[in-house]
Amino acid sequence: METAKVPEYFGSMVFDDRVMRSVLPGKVYTSLRKTIDEGKKLRPEVAESVAKAMRDWAVEKGATHFTHWFQPLTGVTAEKHDSFIEPSPDGGVIMAFSGKTLIQGEPDASSFPTGGIRATFEARGYTAWDPTSYAFIKDKTLCIPTAFCSYGGEALDKKTPLLRSMEALNKQALRILRLFGNDKVKYVHTSVGPEQEYFLITKEMYDKRPDLKYTGRTLFGARSPKGQEMDDHYFGVIKPRVKDFMDDLDEELWKLGILAKTEHNEVAPAQHELAPIYSKTNIATDQNQLMMEIMKKVAARHGLVCLLHEKPFEGVNGSGKHNNWSLSTDTGSNLLSPGDTPYENAQFLLILCAVIKAVDDYQDLLRISVATAGNDHRLGANEAPPAIISVFLGDELTAILDAIEAGTPYSGSEKKIMKLGVDVLPRFARDNTDRNRTSPFAFTGNKFEFRSLGSSNSIACANMMLNSAVAESLKIYADRLEGAENFEEVLHEMIRKTIRDHKRILFNGNGYDEAWVKEATEVRGLSNYPTTADCMPHLLDEKNVSMLTSHGVFSKEELQSRCDIMLENYCKQVRIEVNTMLEITRRMILPAVENYADQLSQTVVRKKAVCDGMTCVYETTIVKKLSALADELFLKAEELERAAEDLNGAEDILAESRAIRDCILPGMQELRRAADAAETYVGKNCWPLPSYGELLFSVK
Ligand code: ADP
Ligand code: MG
Repeated sequence: METAKVPEYFGSMVFDDRVMRSVLPGKVYTSLRKTIDEGKKLRPEVAESVAKAMRDWAVEKGATHFTHWFQPLTGVTAEKHDSFIEPSPDGGVIMAFSGKTLIQGEPDASSFPTGGIRATFEARGYTAWDPTSYAFIKDKTLCIPTAFCSYGGEALDKKTPLLRSMEALNKQALRILRLFGNDKVKYVHTSVGPEQEYFLITKEMYDKRPDLKYTGRTLFGARSPKGQEMDDHYFGVIKPRVKDFMDDLDEELWKLGILAKTEHNEVAPAQHELAPIYSKTNIATDQNQLMMEIMKKVAARHGLVCLLHEKPFEGVNGSGKHNNWSLSTDTGSNLLSPGDTPYENAQFLLILCAVIKAVDDYQDLLRISVATAGNDHRLGANEAPPAIISVFLGDELTAILDAIEAGTPYSGSEKKIMKLGVDVLPRFARDNTDRNRTSPFAFTGNKFEFRSLGSSNSIACANMMLNSAVAESLKIYADRLEGAENFEEVLHEMIRKTIRDHKRILFNGNGYDEAWVKEATEVRGLSNYPTTADCMPHLLDEKNVSMLTSHGVFSKEELQSRCDIMLENYCKQVRIEVNTMLEITRRMILPAVENYADQLSQTVVRKKAVCDGMTCVYETTIVKKLSALADELFLKAEELERAAEDLNGAEDILAESRAIRDCILPGMQELRRAADAAETYVGKNCWPLPSYGELLFSVK
């Protein structure tokens, strides 16, 4: 790849603004832009014209098929390809694509999870074009980003509620901006830059690990002599094979208009990170899904496998996704950036407070939004933020808020009591202490970084909850301010009250500290939900249902179905892990342990034949140890199987998820301990699985 050509091929596979402007009739372009930028309704004749232009563009680029590309609740993306061809009267074919096909599709989607919605409402779902996210070509297929709904209009995907939450936030944020005299802004949107972590191992090693193949993570494996202790991998020199992968990946992503920017090694051996430049949340969401898919594909081309699981290796850092989130206007100003005038600063403080209040009031929703079986292994494991949600502001901004709350002079440069809306906010430096990574939700100068997301999560879930919660704070503020007689006084009082009421969520200390868990839960009353089974039912708490429905982000039925689906996904994932563990234990590990013990026993017999008085301490000790471990492995596997069978009798999915938390996960851990102990005694050539050392240091 020649660097000079990047600007030429960047976005070459995307039907983006440049293409639209050049191929669409002027009026159609203007009308479509209105839909994209301001959420205006799309007219059928506009769709017809766009479809024609899109088809011509795609066919010229070699596309033969099109698909409505959507994000069902399974967590991956879905697509069903149709070819453009239609028979023509002369016996040939034409490449056809109508406005109607662009706008709406009907995937035969009866096996996508719906949590009972479809049974209750309509048998079939449909996909609807999301014109705010650009169409693109992948594998000779024109992919049209869509939302997936039931005929009753219930969302069956992650995209629809995300778009609704963006709309809700826009509406409330505009009310606030108007109050501050800002009449020019037409639209407020959120932007996200998701930093993606992943592991790369060789295909050769991967193929020998059924646990990685079936579950995405290793279910067994003794620690390797060297792990991440030396921190020598972080930002270290990138190995040639990885560098080739990254170059190839960048090229693929750039063609799709994805602004892949930073690629570096992460803390754990074989772990890496890719950060794109931020974009509008719905686009960032689509692009992150696409990015994960392409990472896997490109890895395969290089004889590598990209692991996106949150915790592929025990005892080694897992992978997360940092969701850098900000709020900006269509006129280009970032509302989380302190400004230069007193009014801008007061507005900044109000928005900052809205986020603080939102995170405190809806800690549970944020925790729920990142809850999966995989991510549960990470949160609170002293490598990722704890399961307890708190906000990091840095020392200076915290001191400013403290001063405002107490009505005391801020001991910055000028030392005076600040009156909001009149005085300029003291300048504060962007705090660097947030580098400790222990805070789940950190302010980083002009954006918040929500760090609890798992590496395989769609960012849609976290952002729909965050947007909705902030929309709710802003709504409460706007309701109060719109009726205020003295705007400044009410504003000042409201900011003080928010700080007073919600300062329990502010925490600049070390989130890994045991003392923090105690303080957070016992003194501050923050919620702590270590597992998916603990947090998920709270999705249906009255306060959450009422907030999310009042902003039109979810209906009550949608929330109920989502709660069921998330719990189902959790249970299914763990059940697959149990089945995999049983198979590996019984058909690979136990035979290996027995073989090795047998080899040693035969050695004893042979040695004694040579010389009767041989003690054979080594062999007999190991044979005894392995024999005891084999019994343990057998019994633990039997126990685990019985516990898994008992799950079938669970009353409902919630009861099942709790049984998994209380019986299955500890049982899996016990079985693993026995297997990992056996691994340390069995000869390398007899062990059926590549070791952690081989997996983690396989890429040269
Ligand atoms: P840091 O080093 O503090 O993490 P970076 O500037 O490297 O900050 O950004 C990390 C990620 O945050 C990148 O994906 C970047 O595009 C994104 N980002 C930067 N500014 C914003 C913003 N205003 N809104 C959303 N994301 C942002
Ligand atoms: Mg970062």
